Amino acid sequence: MASVMEMTIDRIIHKVKENSPEADVDLLRLAYDFANEAHKGQKRKTGEPYIQHSLHTSFLLAQIKADLETVIAGILHDVPEDTERTLEDVEKEFGKEVGFLVEGITKLSKIKYRGVDRYNESLRKMFLAMAQDLRVILIKFADRLHNLRTLEGLPDKKRARIARETLEIYAPIAGLLGIWRFKWQLEDLCFKHLYPEEFKKLEYKYEVEQRVERNQYIQKIKKELGKKLKDEGVEEFEILGRFKHLYSIYKKMQIKNRRFDEIFDVFALRVVVPNISDCYRVLGIIHELWRPKSSRFKDYIAVPKPNGYRSLHTTVFGPGGKATEFQIRTTEMNDEAFYGIAAHWYYKKGGSAKSPKENQPKWVKEILNTQKDALDSNEFIQKIKIDIFQKRKFIFSPKGDVFDLPEGSTPIDFAYAVHTEIGNHATGALVNNTMSSLDRELKNGDMVEIIIDKKRKGPNKAWLKFVKTGRAKDKINQALKNSSHFENIKKLIPYTKK
Ligand code: MN
Repeated sequence: MASVMEMTIDRIIHKVKENSPEADVDLLRLAYDFANEAHKGQKRKTGEPYIQHSLHTSFLLAQIKADLETVIAGILHDVPEDTERTLEDVEKEFGKEVGFLVEGITKLSKIKYRGVDRYNESLRKMFLAMAQDLRVILIKFADRLHNLRTLEGLPDKKRARIARETLEIYAPIAGLLGIWRFKWQLEDLCFKHLYPEEFKKLEYKYEVEQRVERNQYIQKIKKELGKKLKDEGVEEFEILGRFKHLYSIYKKMQIKNRRFDEIFDVFALRVVVPNISDCYRVLGIIHELWRPKSSRFKDYIAVPKPNGYRSLHTTVFGPGGKATEFQIRTTEMNDEAFYGIAAHWYYKKGGSAKSPKENQPKWVKEILNTQKDALDSNEFIQKIKIDIFQKRKFIFSPKGDVFDLPEGSTPIDFAYAVHTEIGNHATGALVNNTMSSLDRELKNGDMVEIIIDKKRKGPNKAWLKFVKTGRAKDKINQALKNSSHFENIKKLIPYTKK
């Protein structure tokens, strides 16, 4: 069953207006006419008119509150690649910005995944496109999501290739950008295509066997909590039962080697309130109603995750002693959790996103810096994997600045994250006010103070053996190279003085 609901330009316009009432939607209609004309007569493998793919891609972008240029570029994204119309035509009609986005997508689409060898190269290109303008990647996600929904038209081998590529490259990047809405959907669609048997089994358990019990329990909680919140004077709130996506269940079962029932012991709800102080009030009220499982409280509002995710998490023993997980957050945080970086721009600019570059996450900037130094894509990917794909640790400076560093980082990694000169002149470290060795592995929440000696000539070569971040390695190597260069020059200069 391939055909998804028919998409129209009016539905897209409606969605865009919902997010930004003042948006110039005439341009959207123009884009539709232009793309419709260009793709005329073309059909997808599923038999649908090609323009349906363009429109669905665009709609997905409007759903995550992407800006108007991105939504327009979504409609036009396959025009230069697949029709007589050129990139120049697009730019002439719709301006430089839309032209730039469509160009980025066209370049990206030329990357074909061919297993391990090409993997690094395509990942590198994805990162570069992303670093230039993250919106290009948003379009690519939407494009891929719709392609996955309509994979049925393709031969098995090709289907598996696309699904695997998505699972290995696209979904993790969507996660890094905090666009959970895309990440979940991408993963579950890939899961379905790659492991159809397992998918069906889990879907049945979750959607059929467990559904009634789950819904009853959640209704019960909603009623109890809703009443208590009102009694305590919290007027505005929304309590939602949370859907767990199947691929994450599958992964948990594999990693922890557990059965479905063990993982599904936990029920999950979300409470959405207008502002942050309400979040903490709701937390207090929940803890008053049900005994918290003390080890399971996380304050991602005070200390957001590296991708910007904010929320309070707590697990309590709910009615009947059942472990029940709550996420408590504001409406804005909720949008950000679904739409990630896209919503971030949206809120920053009060409803009309502009200049996404300003809001690039720190790790995107790090990627750009890494790229400048890397010789080939393998080296580049090694660094990216080490820096980005590992679990991050939050380390604090004495002033309270937070640095996120990969697992296994040491005070030297921290020193270079703060400043190159601090790294180069480091002689010691205080971790939580206690003298510590420079190669000690830092833990989440550690407070680190670096002791520096300005007379120190530069880093110690031995540090290279234990530092974890690409940045520290690069800076140490650079400093060592400079100093040996200096030494060599000294040797070349005739020594005249006796
Ligand atoms: Mn496409």
